[in-house]
This record gives sequence, C-alpha cells and structure tokens, in this order.
Amino acid sequence: MEFKVVDLEREPIEFDLELAPGVVDCGSEAEQQGPLATSGQAEVLHEHRGPKDIVADIRLKGRFAGKFQVPCARCIEPVEIPLGAEFDLIFRPVAADADATERSITAPETEIGYYQKDGLALEDVLREQVLLSLPVRTLCKPDCKGLCPRCGVNRNSQVCSCEEGPSDLRWEALAGLRGRIESKQAPR
Ligand SMILES: [Zn+2]
Ligand SMILES: [Zn+2]
Repeated sequence: MEFKVVDLEREPIEFDLELAPGVVDCGSEAEQQGPLATSGQAEVLHEHRGPKDIVADIRLKGRFAGKFQVPCARCIEPVEIPLGAEFDLIFRPVAADADATERSITAPETEIGYYQKDGLALEDVLREQVLLSLPVRTLCKPDCKGLCPRCGVNRNSQVCSCEEGPSDLRWEALAGLRGRIESKQAPR
C-alpha cells in the first residue's frame, strides 16, 4: 500500500489490513507466520520553513501484530514468537534535506525518516518496524543446550560423544588407526 502525498493532501488515509506472508519482506531474520495485522492513519504535516518553503511531511501512525518465526540464538531451530508494536513516525521528502548538511541536527530530527519521490510504501515501514521489534536474543527454551561446536548436532535432541572425548583430533586419528590394526590382527 502506497501513501501518495497528492492523495494525503486531500484527506488523511486510514488503513486496516491483513497482509499475507511475503508482502513484507523481513529477510532471513524473521519469517512471517499467518497474516500480519496492521491499522492506522497517514496524513500530511506541513513544515513551514519560510514563506515560500513548505515541506510536506508524511506522518504515519499505527500498529502491527503478527506471528513470526525466528532462529533460536543457540540451536538455530525456528521459534515462533508474537511481535507487535505501535508507531508514530514522520517522513520527510528526501530532497528537502539534501542541502541541509550545514544545518544543525537536533535530537528529535534524528528520528525522522525520509520518503522517496512522491510517497511512502507501508510495506517498507512495516519491515523496519518488525525488525526493530525483534528481541535481541530468542531461545527455543531457557535451557536450550545449543549445537555441539565440534560435530554440530542439536544437543537438545541428540547426544554426541564429543564432550567426554578428548578434543585432540590427533587422538581420533590414532584411535581409528588402532581400530584398523585390531581388525587386521583378528580376522573372523
Ligand atoms: Zn534452541
Ligand atoms: Zn558433538
């Protein structure tokens, strides 16, 4: 869904949507499960910088909620988590600040996003909002045992002998050699 400034100049646009998986591309970090619900309103805010210098900002206010699969931080198995957040964002036309390198940027201004050309895609905003709402670290369970750093098995479901065995690969080679010698010496 695209919010065009020309349309928003006439009247604010309200939205209430359920987006199918794939509409918002969150990359490999989060995979959407089922519909992503989002609703809110877009409107134009006019920044009066001078008598003839009026900048049309887009204010996008709303919320989203959905289920996502993210990899467990230890064993990389997919974990389903609910994500949701409210947002109230200002987007300025990218050209409006093109000559603003000398203008001092105050703290609130760093929160401002930009839109290209004549409008703003809701999907782009949602992708960023979903990624921002991701927890720093998700575990499939609090005591996830993770992957074996040596053989890579998932220690939650499989037991490997790496832990008890010596970590020296030369010993393994030796053990293999001994096995071969023994089978030669005792053919049955
Ligand atoms: Zn895990
Ligand atoms: Zn192992």
